[in-house]
Amino acid sequence: MPTKSSIADVEIPALDLWAFMFDQKREFPDSQVIYRDANNPSDRYYTFADVKSAATAFGEGLCNLWDWEKSDVLAIYAPNDIDFAPIVYGTFYAGGIVSPANPGYSPDELTFQLKNSGAKALVTTKAFLSSAQKAAEQSGIPKDRILLLGAEKDESHVVKHWTNIRQASRALRYRRRKLDPEKDLAFLVFSSGTTGLPKGVMLSHRTVVADLCLIKGCVGHYYSSGKDKILGVLPFFHIYGLTGLVQQPLHRGIELVVMPAFDLKKFLEAVQTHKVTFIYVAPPVVVRLARDSMVEKYDLSSVRMITCGAAPLTKELVDTVHKKFKIKINQAYGLSETSPMTHTQPWDEWYSSVGSVGKMFPNMTAKYVDPEGNEVAANEAGELWLAGPNVFGGYWKNEEATNDCITVENGLRYFKTGDVGYQDKEHNFYITDRVKELIKYKGFQVAPAELEGKMLDHPLVNDVAVIGVYDKDQETEVPRAYVVHAKKGSEVSDGDAADIVKWVGGKVANHKRLRGGVRFIDEVPKSASGKILRRVLKDKVKQEEEGR
Ligand code: AMP
Repeated sequence: MPTKSSIADVEIPALDLWAFMFDQKREFPDSQVIYRDANNPSDRYYTFADVKSAATAFGEGLCNLWDWEKSDVLAIYAPNDIDFAPIVYGTFYAGGIVSPANPGYSPDELTFQLKNSGAKALVTTKAFLSSAQKAAEQSGIPKDRILLLGAEKDESHVVKHWTNIRQASRALRYRRRKLDPEKDLAFLVFSSGTTGLPKGVMLSHRTVVADLCLIKGCVGHYYSSGKDKILGVLPFFHIYGLTGLVQQPLHRGIELVVMPAFDLKKFLEAVQTHKVTFIYVAPPVVVRLARDSMVEKYDLSSVRMITCGAAPLTKELVDTVHKKFKIKINQAYGLSETSPMTHTQPWDEWYSSVGSVGKMFPNMTAKYVDPEGNEVAANEAGELWLAGPNVFGGYWKNEEATNDCITVENGLRYFKTGDVGYQDKEHNFYITDRVKELIKYKGFQVAPAELEGKMLDHPLVNDVAVIGVYDKDQETEVPRAYVVHAKKGSEVSDGDAADIVKWVGGKVANHKRLRGGVRFIDEVPKSASGKILRRVLKDKVKQEEEGR
């Protein structure tokens, strides 16, 4: 039997994100600071009112300057910055869709996303401008449709800063474009889903509004405006940061201290200086807190909770950090396809259910399915299927992939997560395995199919399969390639594996490097239909480890 959430349903208003944020009654004043730059806190910040006026001006500027049409896509290729929210909301004002990209992407990786999403314009920072320009050229985005965000401008005035677009708003006044929260998309984030290459995940205004309401309904009462400060260190280009850090502070009136990227010293300084109370992280941050002696030099007593998601976290790490610093860590779980959060441990149950990803959000239903497609009991391990108002509409222009992961039963539209788990009697959910191909290096997605596609261009590679192997030292999965060598026996040299690793490293973002190395095999295990049998390789790794 499918299980309903153990938490009472909440109401989800039928509003687009702009109306949800700016047109509803609020429990905090317009002067509430929402985003503050950790590096320049007294000069660079936005109050709630600032965000709205900057977003309105940017939205009007887009309509004036570039004939922005409803559903046009604006890509953002940048590290975290306080300018993110006004640009996102300005795009919504003009009826557009935002597609954020990892600034670590190579020009080719960015080109893939720009072309696939059909982006009309691209926003970046000075540091990433040259890759952005290359990718824009490769995907047909005109040079004058690249904008800079952040504190740094381009002194040569070749590339416009996004605030120049705001100034263009003075030409003609444009009303905010009408949006249908169910049909109109807010974000196109990229995920490989269960299989294959990265795909655009269509998140409508409705699914994101829903996730914000569900987060509030599950744990929202533990933190509030005026009392709490959140650290904005998770990347905004990933849906975990985009919903949790860009949208949620605006929704709840909570100050977010924004950091461009994770750096342990700066992270600790920011917590101490700003008396941060709440932090969302991925497991590698917890690993650093548990192991680095630098942490002891800082006063972290303001932290009331760290929520860790995006990849599995061990009980040992939770224990170590708590023992050393009295810091509590709870877990959250979710996926790009669920806008993203679906589960978290209630703050007062952080230790009684340690190891679990917590309770399912209100308004959601779960069921578990075995490999043959039969439903299993909730206390038996099976693939987790989720239904709820935060489940995405489908993959962008990819009906086949959408149909493969969505199924409607008894009026509920289930998303097949590709994760395996079960729940206990107290409705705590556990994630124990993954049936999908996805590899997660420190919380970042690595799609095996993408690496395999690239590697087939290497002259030494006849065939290849990539899987994730667990690296105990780093406490994360790392990608490893099993390669059928193009040369025979004695022609193979010792340096071939290293050569392939280096070659791949030059073509992909840092998190996709083959940190698990290259192993040579005679044949890639495949099914009769030619599908790579990754499980065979995973079992081989398991046997090797057990034999050690
Ligand atoms: P993404 O779409 O990048 O957010 O990746 C979603 C995937 O990350 C899930 O399908 C899981 O495999 C993994 N994941 C997210 N949170 C957790 C967690 N708390 N524990 C284990 N795996 C997780």
